[in-house]
Amino acid sequence: MENFVMHMNSGDDAHSYARNSGFQRFVISKTWPVLDKTLKEMFDKTEFKSGFRMIDLGCASGPNTLIVISHIIDTIKSLCKCDQLPEIEVYLNDLPANDFNNLFKMLPSFRRGWKNCFVFGLPGSFCERLLPRNSLHFAYSNYCLQWLSQIPEGVEKINKENFFATKTSPVEVFKSYERQFQRDFSSFLMNRGEEMMIGGHMVLSFIGRSSIDFSSEDACASFRLLAEALVDMVAEGLINEEDLHLFNIPMYLPCLEEVEAIIKHEGSFNVKILDSFEVPWDPNLYEDDDYEKVFDKYRSGIIIASYIRAIMEPLLSNHFGNATIDMNNLFEKHAQKLGDYIDEEMPSYLTLLISLIRM
Ligand code: SAH
Repeated sequence: MENFVMHMNSGDDAHSYARNSGFQRFVISKTWPVLDKTLKEMFDKTEFKSGFRMIDLGCASGPNTLIVISHIIDTIKSLCKCDQLPEIEVYLNDLPANDFNNLFKMLPSFRRGWKNCFVFGLPGSFCERLLPRNSLHFAYSNYCLQWLSQIPEGVEKINKENFFATKTSPVEVFKSYERQFQRDFSSFLMNRGEEMMIGGHMVLSFIGRSSIDFSSEDACASFRLLAEALVDMVAEGLINEEDLHLFNIPMYLPCLEEVEAIIKHEGSFNVKILDSFEVPWDPNLYEDDDYEKVFDKYRSGIIIASYIRAIMEPLLSNHFGNATIDMNNLFEKHAQKLGDYIDEEMPSYLTLLISLIRM
């Protein structure tokens, strides 16, 4: 099985995750109501006089995690009945290959309004234990849990030009991905269950699919179009067909029903909210800012390809080799295909949003 090193594009240059994570930021803003409600319930019950410990699981290397922390601190300030804010410990977690240095460099500009707040980097997989037993009050995670701890065994070669379980994948591929997700999500819940104090909460959002029957929908078609761009590169003799057939990524899109079944079966948490919402592929058009809102599907294609590049480039160069794959060419093809695919209406991703309480 192929070893992969999971991380988003490092640094802060034009192709970095730090500069291409506006899409995820849009998703985060849609989680505020559930996040605020959850914090309110927690602070209505207790004042956390001896401190509040929280973690952002899968924080990556861009400003989004610091925007989340700022929002949480502001919300806690507004909820605190006591004059003094509790001391807040914040753990920023991601896999060891994440560019934590870039993240830490951004800290000072955010930190100014953060009184009584102590920040720690925590490298490690959230499928494993990260913190001492009974030490955590609150966990947040945005757009991470669709990532698996490994590429499922047995999918090499049989998934052909697809690189994740999509509607044209054989059913065995789908089953392998489904089993890996069950294992990883159960470990995630079990380990958070051990770390979290009774009454602690988690707010989790991640990408999913709407139907139990995976073959009935083109979930994450934007990624499938990247596979088509790779097929074009094979036809042009730029990459090897066998290499493409061996390429798979550790990503799975679950539906709400299977997520709920795993939570119930694992048993550490009770479900408080289990919801989903659509997020347009190019959210710029729907954002409340001064961006010129002209529907131009090819311009959207370029924006979508840029954020997918920030996610996919490390996995692609790890498999195909940096020197052998021309990323500019690949993502120009991808942008073109995205533009061709987009219709009158912007397609969307289904986002699952859940709030859980430790029992
Ligand atoms: N939460 C951020 C980043 C989302 S990108 C945001 O909303 O912008 C997904 C992140 O999850 C990546 O940085 C990736 O490295 C991280 N990730 C994936 N699997 C992980 C695991 N098992 N443990 C910790 N982090 C993981």
